[in-house]
Amino acid sequence: MIPFSPPRMDQKIIDEVVDTLKSGWITTGPKVKKFEQRLTEYAGHKATLCTSSGSAGLELMLRWFGVGEGDEVILPAYTYTATANVIVHCGAKPVFVDINDDFNISVDDIEKAITEKTKVIMPVDLAGFPCDYDEINELVSRKDIAGKFKPKTKEQEKLGRILVLSDAAHSLGAYYKNKKTGRLTDITVYSFHAVKNLTTAEGGAVCLNLPNPFDNEEIYKYLRIKSLHGQTKDAFTKTKAGAWRYDVIEPGYKFNMTDIAAAMGLVEIERYDNDMLVRRKQIFDRYAKAFSEFDWAEVPIYETDKKRSSYHVFLLRIKDITEEQRDEIIQKITEKGVSVNVHFIPLPLMTYYKSLGNDIADFPVSYDNFLRVISLPVYYNLTDEQVDMVVKAVVDSYDAV
Ligand SMILES: *Cc1c(COP(=O)(O)O)cnc(C)c1O
Repeated sequence: MIPFSPPRMDQKIIDEVVDTLKSGWITTGPKVKKFEQRLTEYAGHKATLCTSSGSAGLELMLRWFGVGEGDEVILPAYTYTATANVIVHCGAKPVFVDINDDFNISVDDIEKAITEKTKVIMPVDLAGFPCDYDEINELVSRKDIAGKFKPKTKEQEKLGRILVLSDAAHSLGAYYKNKKTGRLTDITVYSFHAVKNLTTAEGGAVCLNLPNPFDNEEIYKYLRIKSLHGQTKDAFTKTKAGAWRYDVIEPGYKFNMTDIAAAMGLVEIERYDNDMLVRRKQIFDRYAKAFSEFDWAEVPIYETDKKRSSYHVFLLRIKDITEEQRDEIIQKITEKGVSVNVHFIPLPLMTYYKSLGNDIADFPVSYDNFLRVISLPVYYNLTDEQVDMVVKAVVDSYDAV
């Protein structure tokens, strides 16, 4: 069986994890600090806070901005449920909008969805392909749009417009006009979950890139406290001589990353651009070339003169088929020993989000993409021969339906 996306776990990672286990410090400590510094250097934003997951990072930042009851947050209908769930946790209303043909949020639809209650927009770089950040950043700063913004907290007052909080769970290392995700907008959140391009088993990172007059370094210091029960000193700092006394300044969260996780991340970030992304691009190129031979196959856009993907998932679409036919093709591919998936079922189709009054008929592009998509295996150790086996399994299954 060809698996879908097993993590890359080699001796280097095992050695670094063992080193951490033997060091006497396993939770948030020196390795988390180092991983944060490496991520800041890597993407070029202003400061990084590592978290226990991408979801935790997103929720922390919504709460930092003071999002709550009566507020609205705009996000694409086509995403993983984490993006929407964190909005609900904060007591705010998720406002779904449709996507473009490239699977990313439609800026025209964002504009139509903005109201006086809108506090945040959460674009998602789906499959690793960056959203239209120039257009999104221009939109929130436009006089008529910023004029509608009703600040309720001091952070909202200071920004004076809608916050752009990018969900970059898929797009570490992707480019937009020669800049990496992390510095494309106000705040960006990565995920290091087991299936993501760079994994720490579970984990995430908040990239701070807030404009003047925000002091990103100060916000980082505050977020460390907020992500650890509002306690003024973390366990590592308290181990230093005489540093036992601490205070609690607010009922914070338990969102910190462990040094065991950071150890994996440190190994991976060093070889990410020159090794991980290189191999993933080769796999994408091989799929793209193979499927471009068939007029029924629609190859996703993953490189343009402005954007370059992080090659997270390969979203093959089949032209002119029904949802039932797509499901049948998936069944046949699986019987041939290849694991495939569907990224994602649009959230308005989910029981909970339907119960909030969302109707998939309002998101035609999301629905059409969903019913025709099959996500193919992409992972570091997938060989060219295996890529060819996947292609053959898809082609033979299509021909049989
Ligand atoms: C994986 C994922 C997340 C959440 O990441 P976790 O680290 O698992 O919390 C958020 N958004 C999208 C689109 C994802 O795929």
